[in-house]
Amino acid sequence: QSQELSQVQIDYHAALQALVEDGTRMVCTGRMHTDRICRFESLCYSTEAEEFVFFHSNSSVMLPNLGSRRFQPALLDLSSVEDHNTQYFNFVELPAAALKFMPKPVFVPDVALITNRFNPDNLMHVFHDDLLPIYYTMQQFPDLDQESRLFFMEGWSEGQHFDLYKLLSNKQPLLKEQLKTLGRLLCFTKSYVGLSKITTWYQYGFVQPQGPKANILVSGNEIRQFTKFMMEKLNVSLEESSSEEYIIVFSRTINRLILNEAELILALAQEFQMKTITVSLEDHSFSDIVRLISNASMLVSMHGAQLMMSLFLPRGATVVELFPYAINPEHYTPYKTLATLPGMDLQYIAWQNTDRENTVTYPDRPWDQGGIAHLDKVEQERIIKSKEVPRHLCCRNPEWLFRAYQDTKVDIPSLIQVIRQTVKSKPGPKKQKWTSGLYPGKVRDAKCQASVQGTSEAKLAVSWQIPWNLKYLKVREVKYEVWIQEQGENTYMPYILSHQNHTFSENIKPFTIYLVWIRCIFNKNLLGPFADVLLCST
Ligand code: UDP
Repeated sequence: QSQELSQVQIDYHAALQALVEDGTRMVCTGRMHTDRICRFESLCYSTEAEEFVFFHSNSSVMLPNLGSRRFQPALLDLSSVEDHNTQYFNFVELPAAALKFMPKPVFVPDVALITNRFNPDNLMHVFHDDLLPIYYTMQQFPDLDQESRLFFMEGWSEGQHFDLYKLLSNKQPLLKEQLKTLGRLLCFTKSYVGLSKITTWYQYGFVQPQGPKANILVSGNEIRQFTKFMMEKLNVSLEESSSEEYIIVFSRTINRLILNEAELILALAQEFQMKTITVSLEDHSFSDIVRLISNASMLVSMHGAQLMMSLFLPRGATVVELFPYAINPEHYTPYKTLATLPGMDLQYIAWQNTDRENTVTYPDRPWDQGGIAHLDKVEQERIIKSKEVPRHLCCRNPEWLFRAYQDTKVDIPSLIQVIRQTVKSKPGPKKQKWTSGLYPGKVRDAKCQASVQGTSEAKLAVSWQIPWNLKYLKVREVKYEVWIQEQGENTYMPYILSHQNHTFSENIKPFTIYLVWIRCIFNKNLLGPFADVLLCST
């Protein structure tokens, strides 16, 4: 025991000495606060001041060194939600000599990922804002391995889905509140601060109405790598050849209800000749839901966070999202965007209740459950009469909340009709091999030969070799796009060709220089890069 203590003692003195002598060292990636992640050695945190502390010494490093631009508006975003003013990270600076007058530091030995969860009580936010970004931030930095520890600084308690966060590493994540119990001044030996946004696909409408992000960088492949990891951690195995096909109705039990759920289940079972079951977050464990969804042919659910579970659907399955009266499905698309990510291989169908008779509203509930009794009479009247919620910003638009928390009696024939427009035969995992979508390389050895006939006619014979990677691939259709541009002009003549050579004679003038651009196209829409431009003189 004394051995152990003295070991700690020595480490402690060494660590303290390193901190005093070397100070804090920070090197970041990213050019803006919105895409920055920083790696620190000896970043400290005062649990009394609730501030991070950067200690300056002769060896400290601060890259980028932004001066006061560090406050305009912040060094970085702590959550994956872009530029949200409650999610900024910064530190205060002190000379390392100040440590003499400060509480004795407590060192955190684990490699730490310091971040904010955005809304840990909402399953959609848990996956989109936290779990996926944390998982891929950890993939980005090798020392954020299974022995590293997550620190959540947003200040919330564990929340309903904390068990999911625990799956990401072997160490229990720590909350801001718990840091106080560890000491007055904590120093993280090695830490990463911030979160990758590379996997997020949706913006919630803080500055413009909600919708898919402008530049989505994630595909179904990365989503499915993540779900595979989660399923392994949850001990849910993929049953490859499950015997029975079935449909899941994911129901809500508190609000935004389907009023004729029994009728809906019967109708789906009858129409598709499949067993149809209901699940809800209230009645099933998370693992059970994942197990069921990962083998389902179709998932039917009201718009809402539970639809995030379509992450776990098998390729080829169908997602049916139901929208209450006056809510335009095109305006609320987090789940549509997910289902239609390239390589996600899900079919997405939206159905909206367009019949006022079939909706039940709750004007007298509290405002956050969609009540509108607190609004003035004219405004209440307007909302009740309106046939569609106009586009709006997040998060407290009363008309949106009023409509979002309606209950719906689903018109079965109209629902079956919209599903049937997409699902012709039986829904469910297709045996078809999904094309992975690899892109062609550049065409090679492009050459041109000109011939002039008389003073007004000329021909350009252009040839090239297949892209290098084609010989290793099975591609259904290979085409070539060729652009012929007269030097100095900013227009060009485009051609789509099937062979590796072509003689152009239309609009080709003698004694002229042409620029010839060639690229390969696989399967109609997989466009490769242009080869180096070819200069051809007739
Ligand atoms: N929730 C639920 N059953 C309900 C209502 C809500 O499981 O009847 C869950 C929902 O899936 C989400 C959280 O409670 O994880 C918050 O729901 P809310 O209606 O606020 O958000 P939304 O589902 O519209 O995103």
